Amino acid sequence: MLVLLVLPILPILKVTSIKGFKDVFPPAGTRRERMTTRACRVLESYGYGRIELPLLEKGELFVRAVGASSDIVEKEMYAFTDKDKDATLVALRPEGTASVVRAFIEAGGAREIPVARLFYTGPMFRRERPQKGRLRQFHQIGAEYLGRDDPAADAETLCLVDDICRATGIHGARILVNSLGDRECRPAYRESLTNFARSRIESLCADCRARLERNPLRILDCKNPGCAEATADAPLMADHLCDPCERHYGRVIELAEASGVKLQRTPRMVRGLDYYVRTAFEVVADHKDLGSQNAIGGGGRYDGLVAQLGGADTPGIGFALGVERMELAGGAEAEAVYADSILIAPVGESCEVAAALLARRLRLAGAAVEVESGARKLKAQMKRADKAGAGFVVLIGPEELAAGRPVVRDMIRKADYPGCFGLDDDAEAVLEAIRKVGNN
Ligand code: AMP
Repeated sequence: MLVLLVLPILPILKVTSIKGFKDVFPPAGTRRERMTTRACRVLESYGYGRIELPLLEKGELFVRAVGASSDIVEKEMYAFTDKDKDATLVALRPEGTASVVRAFIEAGGAREIPVARLFYTGPMFRRERPQKGRLRQFHQIGAEYLGRDDPAADAETLCLVDDICRATGIHGARILVNSLGDRECRPAYRESLTNFARSRIESLCADCRARLERNPLRILDCKNPGCAEATADAPLMADHLCDPCERHYGRVIELAEASGVKLQRTPRMVRGLDYYVRTAFEVVADHKDLGSQNAIGGGGRYDGLVAQLGGADTPGIGFALGVERMELAGGAEAEAVYADSILIAPVGESCEVAAALLARRLRLAGAAVEVESGARKLKAQMKRADKAGAGFVVLIGPEELAAGRPVVRDMIRKADYPGCFGLDDDAEAVLEAIRKVGNN
């Protein structure tokens, strides 16, 4: 009893979201979905099909695929031990390729699926420092092409990336390419780079010093100006490619450019993950909202990965695009919620039935329709239409109801079009009339 009496009255605290994990409300969420759908349509036009993957995997998968010395595994993985008897280490997926390859192997690999073109969309998790363009839960659209190692497959992949950027309306995207060599030529290059970096060790940052033994290629990628200056004349992979890698790279560029893809050869570009060989690429956009995080996506060839994860040796190439970065680069702008979102404004309760009936018919015909309350003032209803990002308002007052012809307001141009359709018209014809107003 005494205990109860002395318990303080606790204030009710607000529970907030976790840093780096974001909620996305409409209309931004709607735009995102539409942008993603556009990208998926392009993927399907290239013969890719969707694969659904778990968000949680054994931690070992990423250690083996991405590499123990990668930033992702070393610092950023959300991993914990499960409650099973083996206390399995499990991790929220930080990227998609490892999961696709694991799934491919489990499904029988190249024996069952000789050439697999698979895409995925969804959240990835990395415990990075949250900042503009960098979240702890972010979203990717990714694709993997397994079973081909010829340059035409790489060129087609670059074309696909270019087409997705165009279809989603990303401004000024550029594709940077490089060849990272293979098991034949990379070890010797790696050694010569390591020797070079050792000779400049005094000028390198602490991160690069740590990279020196474990992942020396990453030194070329360091954003620290001191490191960039110290390694300005570092040996480059492009000058150390073996003949087959050189020929492969040359043909990839030739084929992709012949298809109209603009590429920027970038000999200092390396990727952070261990599994890449030969072709590697990054998509960047110079958009003010991206700041220094201007990489929209990246990818490359990973011919040894399937074997490394226990499958039969199968080549592969893939990429992942960051959805939030695509949006920052203007990707979602192409998806104004404008064209097919309509708000019906009944003026007075006597017009509510006509409004509800029209809404129901238009929705069945595929439009997105919100109906306001007839009890609210027209001004308040219009405010709501603005806030909802509606493209059009269909206004039904007692006069319009009597005439059977509402007024359509184009919300972008703020112009009214009285009587452009009849309440009894076919739903398709109504939508057609509304779209026509929008095209005027
Ligand atoms: P990666 O898997 O590291 O090659 O990343 C591919 C793309 O995913 C990047 O180019 C970004 O667009 C996006 N991305 C990676 N990490 C983040 C993050 N922490 N926050 C937002 N987007 C990210």
